[in-house]
Amino acid sequence: MGGSGSGRRWHWDAVATTDSMYSLDVRRLSRKGLLAPGNRFGWHWSRGGERIGEIQIEAQAGSIILKYRSRSGGGDWESMNYPVRLISQPCNLGGERQWFACPARGCGRRVALLYGGRIFACRHCYRLAYPSQREQSFQRYQRRANAIKTRLGWDSLPWGDWGPKPKGMHQSTFDRLTAEIEHFEAASDVAFVGYFQTRFDLLGD
Ligand SMILES: [Zn+2]
Repeated sequence: MGGSGSGRRWHWDAVATTDSMYSLDVRRLSRKGLLAPGNRFGWHWSRGGERIGEIQIEAQAGSIILKYRSRSGGGDWESMNYPVRLISQPCNLGGERQWFACPARGCGRRVALLYGGRIFACRHCYRLAYPSQREQSFQRYQRRANAIKTRLGWDSLPWGDWGPKPKGMHQSTFDRLTAEIEHFEAASDVAFVGYFQTRFDLLGD
């Protein structure tokens, strides 16, 4: 590992800001109290002060419904309307943490962020859709997170799942390693948004 004792501090809010992208962050929605069942609200994205996309969201018990219109390549507008399942997980420090289950067919991964194209899906799904020859920074960050998971013996877990503390590992070591996983995954999310946005712009030309 190394490097983690260098006194560097992670800046969560700085890495977790994805305002101008087509991404939905379950942590932001949860923090704002928007996931309470029965709640309906609009969410929009802007870039350079211009509104570039919006959706309507309806919160239900255990899921949110996404409603928006989508169009690709100058074709007809298509009305989209589908649920995204919510997964709640008890926190170590009390309370609950919310996750999305990726709604892409055959996925269902537990993720904090979904990215909008025609449908909203997780980074893993879009990575499959947008393969690249050389390693991108979002992949490099994910690889570093995965290396820590390997050290913790979490290799066999489903993508996105966290396991228990290995026997014999100090709690402080475990806390540091899990914080590093969170950091690298958050950095990967942000880097991915940048990557995807670039692709989006190129495809939109
Ligand atoms: Zn997915």
